[in-house]
Amino acid sequence: MFSVDLTGKKGLIMGVTNHRSIAWSIAKPLAEAGAQLAFSYQGDRLKPTLEKLTADLDSPVLAECDVTSDSDLDQLFATLEQTWGRLDFVVHAVAFAPTETFARPFREVKRDDWHTAMDVSAYSLVAVTQRAAKLMTDGGSIVTLSYLAAEKVVPHYNMMGVAKAALEASVRYLAYDLGPQEVRVNAISAGPVRTVAARSIAGFGDMYSEAGRLSMMNRNITADEVGQMAFALLSPMGGGVTGETLYVDAGFNAIGMFLEERQGEDEGDTSA
Ligand code: NAP
Repeated sequence: MFSVDLTGKKGLIMGVTNHRSIAWSIAKPLAEAGAQLAFSYQGDRLKPTLEKLTADLDSPVLAECDVTSDSDLDQLFATLEQTWGRLDFVVHAVAFAPTETFARPFREVKRDDWHTAMDVSAYSLVAVTQRAAKLMTDGGSIVTLSYLAAEKVVPHYNMMGVAKAALEASVRYLAYDLGPQEVRVNAISAGPVRTVAARSIAGFGDMYSEAGRLSMMNRNITADEVGQMAFALLSPMGGGVTGETLYVDAGFNAIGMFLEERQGEDEGDTSA
């Protein structure tokens, strides 16, 4: 089996709430490959869970950071600079939109809710990248998480879809700015995964079951599959890839028409 050694590499993981978090599925293979990891969390209530999850890792750094606060972000990156002096990668797996925006039609979105969703889910990538890039003195890689609703209407996703569109556009502009510094910036557009954030989305159950039923592979993806793609992008395996949105969705995004029965499904394989 092909293996990648990340011993000596240092990375920040943002957005682990529990073992179901996509960020945790990304952290696991990175730690197994020898990378040293720091974890940022929004509030004190998450610290005990993170301490338990990371108990077996090599000297993990745990730091509180609400991404809407510039002073929290400054403090977080000051801690990383003092501890490691440099940084190789960042996983940005943070998003939020008020629950009401998923439950009410998009046309009713309020100004404050628009700002909140944009700030937490899109601007935070820019704010994090500004600070991270300064520590990426030997190049680096940044990965964020998006969803198909950035480019197509997905009922209920509403305001978060608009924020994800801004996030994906930001990935391209950041990648352009930082390319000469060998800092790569990419997004993974993941199919539905059952997480805490997903539970707050009205209609998520239907989104999940329809994606599984109708995807090219006739199944849902797993958080570990997202973790493996992120691993590739964050490691030298992903060298040369930047400014991209890569899909880990069992092919769902590439289908232009959904049929109840697929052609050939009941006829057996007639190919030569
Ligand atoms: P999750 O485990 O709930 O992670 C979301 C994280 O965002 C939580 O740790 C949450 O902290 C954090 N967060 C929210 N507001 C924050 C703030 N102001 N400052 C710092 N952190 C904040 O859910 P997840 O599904 O793994 O989400 C990770 C990413 O994947 C998100 O960008 C999400 O949109 C994306 N994604 C998810 C799916 C899916 O189906 N699950 C599909 C495609 C993309 P708290 O727990 O403290 O709120």
